[in-house]
Amino acid sequence: MSKKQNPPSTATPALAAHLAETLRRLRAERGWSLNRAAAETGVSKAMLGQIERAESSPTVATLWRIASGFHTPLSAFIEPPVRHEKPAFRSAAALRDRPASDPMWVAPLFPYDSQLGFELLELTLAPRYERHSEPHLPGVIEHVIVVRGTMEVLVDGSWHALSEGEAVRFPADRPHGYRNPGEAPAVCHNLICYTGTAAPIGAE
Ligand code: MN
Repeated sequence: MSKKQNPPSTATPALAAHLAETLRRLRAERGWSLNRAAAETGVSKAMLGQIERAESSPTVATLWRIASGFHTPLSAFIEPPVRHEKPAFRSAAALRDRPASDPMWVAPLFPYDSQLGFELLELTLAPRYERHSEPHLPGVIEHVIVVRGTMEVLVDGSWHALSEGEAVRFPADRPHGYRNPGEAPAVCHNLICYTGTAAPIGAE
């Protein structure tokens, strides 16, 4: 955990290339100009352009804004969809240092795929980190299961404390948030289900 992880200039070229390609493809599919994409995501046109040229390694917060603006699961930006005809063994430790230096790390344990309709992320929150999440598409349901430390989840307008082994499920099509009030990192699993959404989502 910490400092030296992925300064922008050394983010893995493969990740930067995947991000660039995904963003270009999503924008093309929607027929959005850079101006439109900036308006939909709240991320500057300059930053979007840098990402599309694989010149920038955005923070997780930025990625999340882009994913929300495009109504796309976050993991679509982190790695290509994983097929599930075969067992897939995954290591959070190996995935955790992507995509950028950030007070919140995301390990896409099981990235979104359209057949299963969910993504399972491991989130690591630095001490004192607080994040307010953009509402997802109508019908999206989130589950947060604390696996290490303690954290608080903003649901229905108030913060609820969860300790190790405790979990909450909530509608995520409205404002919600995560924070770590403690002095040690907090780790949770975040299972985001898209099966209740009326509209098809654009990850694959
Ligand atoms: Mn969320």
